[in-house]
Amino acid sequence: MKHSKVIDLLNSTKTLHEVTAKGWVRTFRNNQFIALNDGSTIHNIQCVVDFENTPDETLKRITTGAAICVTGTLAESRGAGQKVEIQVTKLEILGDSDAEKFPMQPKKHSLEFLRENAHLRVRTNAFGAIMRVRSTLAFAVHQYFQEKGFFYVNTPIITGSDAEGAGEMFQVTSLPLDGSAPRNEDGSINYKEDFFGKQTNLTVSGQLEGETFAMALGQIYTFGPTFRAENSNTSRHLAEFWMIEPEVAFNDLADNMDLAEDFIKYVIKYTVDKCGDDLKFLENRLLEEEKSKPQAERSEMTLLEKLSFVLDNNFKRVSYTEAIEILRDSTPNKKKKFRYIINEWGADLQSEHERFLVEKHFKCPVILFDYPAKIKAFYMRLNDNTEPGKETVRAMDILFPGIGEIVGGSQREERYDVLVEKMKALGIDEEELWWYLDTRRFGSAVHSGFGLGFERLVLFVTGMTNIRDVIPFPRTPQNAEF
Ligand code: ATP
Ligand code: MN
Repeated sequence: MKHSKVIDLLNSTKTLHEVTAKGWVRTFRNNQFIALNDGSTIHNIQCVVDFENTPDETLKRITTGAAICVTGTLAESRGAGQKVEIQVTKLEILGDSDAEKFPMQPKKHSLEFLRENAHLRVRTNAFGAIMRVRSTLAFAVHQYFQEKGFFYVNTPIITGSDAEGAGEMFQVTSLPLDGSAPRNEDGSINYKEDFFGKQTNLTVSGQLEGETFAMALGQIYTFGPTFRAENSNTSRHLAEFWMIEPEVAFNDLADNMDLAEDFIKYVIKYTVDKCGDDLKFLENRLLEEEKSKPQAERSEMTLLEKLSFVLDNNFKRVSYTEAIEILRDSTPNKKKKFRYIINEWGADLQSEHERFLVEKHFKCPVILFDYPAKIKAFYMRLNDNTEPGKETVRAMDILFPGIGEIVGGSQREERYDVLVEKMKALGIDEEELWWYLDTRRFGSAVHSGFGLGFERLVLFVTGMTNIRDVIPFPRTPQNAEF
């Protein structure tokens, strides 16, 4: 008999028929009640075993973590806590799980312990919920763009363009690393002998390639893995993370902000509607976690309130210049509570500043725009009419409470001459990026896009605080287990 999913059984209005379910035992009480979970939902189904007619040998093997198959009658539950249960007539152990050795005991484990057991942590309620929410968010991303007529583009993962400067890169090579790699006369490595005949890296962003597609297909998006060898061991950075990068021809910076805000709201709304049970569980998890914090550090809103708040309010749009004024006059700046004190226009914003603006000052998502050209990437559109020395670019960063930067984007510099000037000034090799410059030579036009770090979005929606807990197998400095 084909087995049913637990989620369908729990939602079934038809009872008293024979069903089969397969899953993993969460708990087994009184030699009689199995809480069975198959991953389809956060909820377990109660399976009532007829222990008098079940061999002791079998009962002993119903242990936490074991995979089992049960057949029986789906009936209204006689106990409290669940509407339906399976009154088991046949029970088969599919895979034993040694109760002494199975790491996922039915008790509270630390997140650190769970990270070390990332291959099993998804069998817990919290991680099951997080990974279902992650899957739903990913689907919503595609649905949003597809409904709006965007095309999904797969940009290369191995790239030969190292000019982008978005972060430290991982090199890709098939040359030996034991010192026997072929060398040039000056002693440097001869990459002509390498697999691709040149030096290559794992991509830090698909943007530049994405732009070439936007200048043909109009509206495109990428959704793929990106890699940064940044040695920043923070709760917001991974060495391997997933990025969503829409790019749209003829969009200016204001259109870009509208798109980003609408997109974020859509995917959150979609997930709130689809993942109610998982989010409710995660909300309670967060409440529990916060109980151990001093009152002042607890958040004023519950998880679902925070999500509704984002849906119901406009993101506050603030120029970099206004933000600097706010920060300069802020109490933590005056009392020297910031690690980096803001004195001058032109200062790069650190996450402490971003968080102050979002969490203390505006208390809502913030879009900062028009940053100093000096602290932003070469491809961002230079604003017209800016004072010499105070040039700004049409950049925008979206800052979220508890997260900091979730989106980084800009209107792109569409003018060939200005772009080349900029590259020269920064020492970026024009020859290396000949194909990128071609987009400005042949039918150039205003266009804009942004990158959203998928894990930072999952962090926000799940209310988790460490980015290592929202990706199945995190890659961070000194850690690539699994
Ligand atoms: P940050 O200042 O937080 O390091 P960034 O300025 O380097 O971010 P961008 O290069 O603009 O970020 O990348 C676009 C988005 O990708 C960011 O807004 C963020 O959501 C996400 N992101 C960047 N670096 C990482 C990382 N190491 N791990 C996870 N997400 C990241
Ligand atoms: Mn970074």
